[in-house]
Amino acid sequence: MCPGVVAFAGSGPGDPDLLTLKVLKALQEADVILFDRLVSAEIMALAHDGAILENVGKEGFGPSMAQEDICARLVHHARKGRKVLRLKSGDPSLFGRLDEELTACETADVGTVILPGITAASAAVAAIGQSLTQRGRNSSVRFLTGHDMKGFADHDWAQLARPGEVAAVYMGKKSARFVQGRMLMHGADRATPVTVVENASRADQRVLATTLDQLPADLAAADFGGPALTFLGLAPRQHAAALPHLRDQTQMELA
Ligand code: SAH
Repeated sequence: MCPGVVAFAGSGPGDPDLLTLKVLKALQEADVILFDRLVSAEIMALAHDGAILENVGKEGFGPSMAQEDICARLVHHARKGRKVLRLKSGDPSLFGRLDEELTACETADVGTVILPGITAASAAVAAIGQSLTQRGRNSSVRFLTGHDMKGFADHDWAQLARPGEVAAVYMGKKSARFVQGRMLMHGADRATPVTVVENASRADQRVLATTLDQLPADLAAADFGGPALTFLGLAPRQHAAALPHLRDQTQMELA
């Protein structure tokens, strides 16, 4: 790490073993670390003792440090000649407002570097033994957010509703009913497999295998309190062979 430069880094989905060596080194070298709520405690424990730790995390739509205040903190620390680590969960380039923080640094003439991380979708798909793409099934995969600044996020539902499509929905718990409604409205099969992975890669990881039809009810019953990634169009591998029957086989697993 360089003094006066901000490193934007991804901490991965939570398991410290899924940190990259670069990010681990940055954790051990940084003078100051601004981190998000979803960066796990085990990972923060790897920071060196003298580092200043600032929790700038947000909880869903709840109270959080304003984005401009986070940007101001980054610039402030960098101008003091500190090695600044901005640690975001997963990969910093996905649903992490990286662009706004990069722009703030650029505007203030503060140098930046980006250290990628393993995104939640990669960890979650590994947890269910599946592949995000598959020859003959889907040659593309979408990373969606369930909601954006204006509320539930709109997408190309007609495309998503087609058989074989796969999408990873981030921040998709509150929007499950909305997503279901849009998908059905655009002709998706009610039996489309849907899998929700809570706390992917962490000790308390849980997997809910359901269908588009049952998604809102099953998700409410599962009462997931942790971060959860929803796959549209994917069932856990052991269910894949039984897809036509999956509808009646909603099942919770402790993985
Ligand atoms: N930059 C992050 C995403 C931040 S948005 C990444 O690349 O993973 C936050 C959302 O990510 C959560 O609402 C949830 O949908 C997902 N998420 C993050 N960590 C997760 C985990 N360990 N398990 C499941 N979903 C996770």
